Amino acid sequence: MSEQYEGHDVHELQVLNPATEEVVATVPAATAEDVDAAVVRAGRAQTRWAALAPGDRARLLRRFATTVDGHIEELARLEVREAGHTVGNARWEAGNVRDLLDYAAGGVERLTGRQIPVAGGLDVTFHEPLGVVGVIAPWNFPMPIAAWGTAPALAAGNAVLLKPAETTPLTALRLAELALEAGLPEGLFQVLPGHGPVAGNALVEHPGVAKIVFTGSTAVGTQVLAKGSALLKRVTLELGGKSPNIVFADSDLEAAVAATPMSFLDNSGQDCCARTRILVQRSAYDRFLDLLAPAIESVLVGDPADENTQMGPLISKVQLDRVRSYVDPDAPGIRGKAPEGPGFWFPPTVLTGVEPHARVAAEEVFGPVAVVLPFEDEADAIRLANDTPYGLSGSIWTRDVGRALRVSQAVRAGNLSVNSHSSVRYWTPFGGFKQSGIGRELGPDALTAFTETKNVFISTEA
Ligand code: NAD
Repeated sequence: MSEQYEGHDVHELQVLNPATEEVVATVPAATAEDVDAAVVRAGRAQTRWAALAPGDRARLLRRFATTVDGHIEELARLEVREAGHTVGNARWEAGNVRDLLDYAAGGVERLTGRQIPVAGGLDVTFHEPLGVVGVIAPWNFPMPIAAWGTAPALAAGNAVLLKPAETTPLTALRLAELALEAGLPEGLFQVLPGHGPVAGNALVEHPGVAKIVFTGSTAVGTQVLAKGSALLKRVTLELGGKSPNIVFADSDLEAAVAATPMSFLDNSGQDCCARTRILVQRSAYDRFLDLLAPAIESVLVGDPADENTQMGPLISKVQLDRVRSYVDPDAPGIRGKAPEGPGFWFPPTVLTGVEPHARVAAEEVFGPVAVVLPFEDEADAIRLANDTPYGLSGSIWTRDVGRALRVSQAVRAGNLSVNSHSSVRYWTPFGGFKQSGIGRELGPDALTAFTETKNVFISTEA
């Protein structure tokens, strides 16, 4: 067991409200035997599900989406309590589950193969479901990340076993109830709340689970890949990031500054796409910092249930201690405000005068902490942006269209945005270069990632 579980009963999960440290719920933790039984139930349900007419599967998934839509506020309030997400964000996240289900439902009847010209017959391909898929989700976006894997996997004809993070099982459990209420067959979508090294590991090592979709730390993701490979399991990894926000002197500097705070403070910085390395061209550096200081100082940090709050607490004491370990209280920079007292609070923090290879500038902090680094010219910006083992996201601020394209092509990352901080849209592919992951999720090809391609040749000469 890792440190995180010390002092906790291995047979249960205690869910704390990160804003108050009060116990919200206690949930039984799934064992390896529970995982075995769930795989058997899922296998049976999957066989029947895959045999349904595509139109019927699509209709049931749309009904699931409609049922989620009818519970947006309830799901959002639950996420505020278990994860400390601001209520506005939590509503968006629940809506994202609905949208992902709707989008995936639209793919069920369009999951077409190909007809390939060959001599002596007809050659066609089919996209067949993998079987039982395991989705191991993190605590930073419990609902959207669970649905990124679950919705397309179900749409492609698979069953899904979802293991939520230890700290955030509640919205996942509620989604499983809503799936049944919507008419999805028993066993098709099961939630197994449990400890990573127990329930998560059992999914990874189970020969009856054909694919693992993992989102979380690079350390655990690497183990998941190694263990999954031993069984030749399909594995998708969505890991960390240390994404650059590249601000050129020719940009609309006011717009770049205005968008900077929430580019790394959204979800208290617990976002794999957080733009935590702010790279600013030296000729605009001083003005950028002068404008940024009041923007950071005025971010509203507090009760996540309050509609006006922009940033809530960190998820846990473990995460708070981790974030604190990166920040020297005397280091120069800009600091915002955070509540005192119970709750896992850390103020918005921008550090200046940091070396590019300092721990805080190089590692994923996963908290409301960014560094500002100056650069000289386009080549220097690209060099700094790529000077990281990660490659998930990044932003480029410039008024020069040619430069925007050149830099977009030169930065080694999966998701870039120009004059904005957009990363994740369910219509478009998402995933990382380098140590940020393997594989892509979302977008037009999301369903095929949960299928095997089968080729069939039919002779016309027999
Ligand atoms: P983690 O990797 O330990 O947990 C992610 C998920 O994996 C959880 O569901 C966990 O229960 C499960 N897990 C843990 N050990 C496992 C194992 N041996 N086998 C199978 N599943 C296992 O992440 P964490 O400890 O919650 O967070 C640590 C750091 O990871 C963060 O500070 C952050 O840097 C990073 N992180 C990144 C993301 C992301 O979106 N890429 C999400 C969460 C955390």
